[in-house]
Amino acid sequence: MTESDVIAAIATPSGRGAVGIVRLSGDGALDILNKIFRPVRQWESHRMYYGNIYAGGEVIDEVMACPMLSPRSYTRENTVEIYAHGGVATLHGVLDAALISGARLALPGEFTKRAFLNGRINLTQAEAVMDLIGATSGAARRAGLRQLGGGLGKRIMAGRDRLLVWLANIELSIDYPEHEEEAMNRATILQEGHHWLRDMIALMESSSLGKVLREGIKTVILGRPNVGKSTLLNAILGEERAIVHEIPGTTRDVLTEQVQLGDVVLRLMDTAGLRETTDPIEGIGVEKTNEAAKDAELILYVMDYSKPTAQEDKEILSRLNDKHVIKILNKCDLPPGESVDDLGEAFKISAQNRIGLTALYDEIQCKFLKGLLSTQEAETDIITRERHKVLLQSAVDHVKQSMDELRQGTAEDLVSIGLREAYMALGEILGLEVSDDIVDRIFSEFCVGK
Ligand code: GDP
Repeated sequence: MTESDVIAAIATPSGRGAVGIVRLSGDGALDILNKIFRPVRQWESHRMYYGNIYAGGEVIDEVMACPMLSPRSYTRENTVEIYAHGGVATLHGVLDAALISGARLALPGEFTKRAFLNGRINLTQAEAVMDLIGATSGAARRAGLRQLGGGLGKRIMAGRDRLLVWLANIELSIDYPEHEEEAMNRATILQEGHHWLRDMIALMESSSLGKVLREGIKTVILGRPNVGKSTLLNAILGEERAIVHEIPGTTRDVLTEQVQLGDVVLRLMDTAGLRETTDPIEGIGVEKTNEAAKDAELILYVMDYSKPTAQEDKEILSRLNDKHVIKILNKCDLPPGESVDDLGEAFKISAQNRIGLTALYDEIQCKFLKGLLSTQEAETDIITRERHKVLLQSAVDHVKQSMDELRQGTAEDLVSIGLREAYMALGEILGLEVSDDIVDRIFSEFCVGK
């Protein structure tokens, strides 16, 4: 056990609730309970005790307390949870009673940090706790829960173990050339390396999905003026928030709104039309639009079904080619106008009359979540963090290089340098080789009380 002073925090969200929890963890957690809880008991682990919390002779609240003795607790230390009435004054009163009696206020994520430092969970699992707390959709929750169960960690650990086997065999042939026969030969390592790379690259590629689950999809609605962009935004949001107007070019600012569509969250930016303009105010809108389109992950490109589609649409679409574009023909309640051919498949909707929106939402979910919604795919490991992606990329690059060197017959001691780097990078994902400041940074993202 590394840190053993007693930390305390309110573990439930602030506000009014039937019950609120104050949590204590550290060697002396029971001593503090003895000071603030009446009647004093012979505490048994994982039992609930009914009593009162006192501070300076005054009863603060009537509570239930549950001691969880080391190592059978979240942090592996002695832990106490006090279930009080869920009011702000009550919970702060209980917390203050603990602080006066010698506990110290916990830093954000400090309980989970102790669980990590005491070896109960690895770093990917600690991060999964955070993902679970932040999960707003079923898919995000499933991905977080699987990571908490250690699925991702096991896969990375297995990859790391394989590297160690290759390293050991390479070292063997360097140190004991007479045993070279017994060591894995280059061809075997190369073959295994091929599978290893395939596996780790697949894991890395799951990061785009992970990002979608964690952060939502940055979405831009684009199209020429008056095609119904604001109306579509409002329809998606389910309420009138952006300005809808018949005069072209009335939506001047980029607005951002979040909306939950089944398992994904869209972060919608409403923008002015993509149009050359001389109006200075409108100009800002167009500039912002181009900027927004640049880093958008999804572009809903709206055209007017009732008007002849313009050459301009074709040009803009060809410029957006490499993006996730969904083409939309709005106002399908009106008779069709002539259309420029070659626009490809487009969704016919009427934003105003809410026609075709469900099919559009399904398409968005399919595009981004692929098979994740099915139970079978829910078993897939997903990288949800940039930190993991960067380290995995580094491991993959090093192994690729080592494999090239092996193929070219480079000396073993040089080959092993890259493999070692990859080994360290994977260890860092799990928190096995990670510096204190990185650990501090990761846990500081947590909320207090977790
Ligand atoms: P924007 O400039 O692209 O944001 O377009 P708006 O959302 O302001 O809409 C322009 C006009 O088209 C408004 O008068 C809307 O009421 C109308 N409009 C939008 N969607 C539809 C639709 O599905 N059907 C019909 N008939 N009119 C629509």
